[in-house]
Amino acid sequence: MENKTMIPFAEGLETIKRFALPLGTEQVDLFRALNRTLAEDVFSDISMPPFNKSAMDGYACRKSDVKNLLQVIEEIPAGSIPTKSIGENQCARIMTGAMVPEGADWVIMKEHIEEVGPNLVRCNRETVNANICYMGEDVKLGDRVLKKGDVISPSHIAILASVGCYKPMVYKIPSVAIISSGDELVEPHEIPGISKIRNSNSYQLVAQAKQMGIDADYLGIVRDDETAIRNVLSQAIEKYEVIVISGGVSVGDFDFVPKILKELNVNIRVHGMDVKPGKHLLFGEKENHFIFGMPGNPVSSFVQFEVLVKPFLNVLMGKTVDENFLYLPIAADYKRKKADQLIFVPVILTKEGTIQPLEYHGSAHIHAYTFANGIMEMPQNRLEFKIGDIVCVRPL
Ligand code: AMP
Ligand code: MG
Repeated sequence: MENKTMIPFAEGLETIKRFALPLGTEQVDLFRALNRTLAEDVFSDISMPPFNKSAMDGYACRKSDVKNLLQVIEEIPAGSIPTKSIGENQCARIMTGAMVPEGADWVIMKEHIEEVGPNLVRCNRETVNANICYMGEDVKLGDRVLKKGDVISPSHIAILASVGCYKPMVYKIPSVAIISSGDELVEPHEIPGISKIRNSNSYQLVAQAKQMGIDADYLGIVRDDETAIRNVLSQAIEKYEVIVISGGVSVGDFDFVPKILKELNVNIRVHGMDVKPGKHLLFGEKENHFIFGMPGNPVSSFVQFEVLVKPFLNVLMGKTVDENFLYLPIAADYKRKKADQLIFVPVILTKEGTIQPLEYHGSAHIHAYTFANGIMEMPQNRLEFKIGDIVCVRPL
């Protein structure tokens, strides 16, 4: 096994991001647009509101007449066009969302009106609001309502719908394959025999991808056998834009993945970073197909997907702001024995806005992350944090 040069994590991330470019664009319908990234600015084809609109169920009249007896000359439901203009001491019964008739500049709430005779009403309260939403007060025709790079939220979908952008142009989602390798692995429905363990990484990785809106394909367990690994990887590279394979990337005698990738003419750009967990992580590329070799330990695989693979996939999907860091005070002293590496540690972001490190036994201790809602970074050369020190955390 050849010697690998360990590079700092930051350099690994930089290298990986150099190869990340948005994949391309497509139009999607609004029901499928949530969390996608807009690939173009969106402009309004209408003013909003499109006409002076009543904000209340009530009576539309002239402001100067509010204290007078008013004659009801028309009823205006939402969606209809008023047929009469409001003259002196006249009003129209109007519904929320309906067009305010010509001549009227005031809507008295229904609750403030007293009926004093057939089609004769009077306002019995001081009124202070016009209760009219004026044409174009929210958005004017031609206004840019959303911009390229915005990640579509439910309220963005409402805006897209209102301006008639029913098939927004968004960045494509990469096709992703998940593979696990290892002779010791059995699937979750199986009872592991002596010396075997259940494959948890594949399911975890598929779930992490799903959280990002990516429906990854799971290609199964591949044995620690050169031919088997070559077959599955060569086919996957043809078919998928991104392949995530866990296990078999470190320095053991049966860690064939790096060797086989080289034989398949994959350019290995990162293999080994000064970071814990996940120092053996591998990244390679071949003609716009990308391969991540994840260390087999479940925590390493989980953490490296969060801190490295996610930012990469985010760029492919057009996201420009992918790093979600919080800087918060730590709730207790935190020490380690050696400060030779950058480490990632499971933590709880408390309701008080502090960071509570969790008990953590190392990269096989996946259970520690079941309680975590954040990953804390402890930089190289930093031996301890004192209570109250500000630490960098990625929320989960
Ligand atoms: P490796 O990176 O192949 O040397 O594996 C490192 C450790 O991770 C070993 O203890 C493996 O048993 C464990 N491991 C590897 N693959 C998986 C997997 N898919 N699910 C759970 N644990 C795994
Ligand atoms: Mg292995």
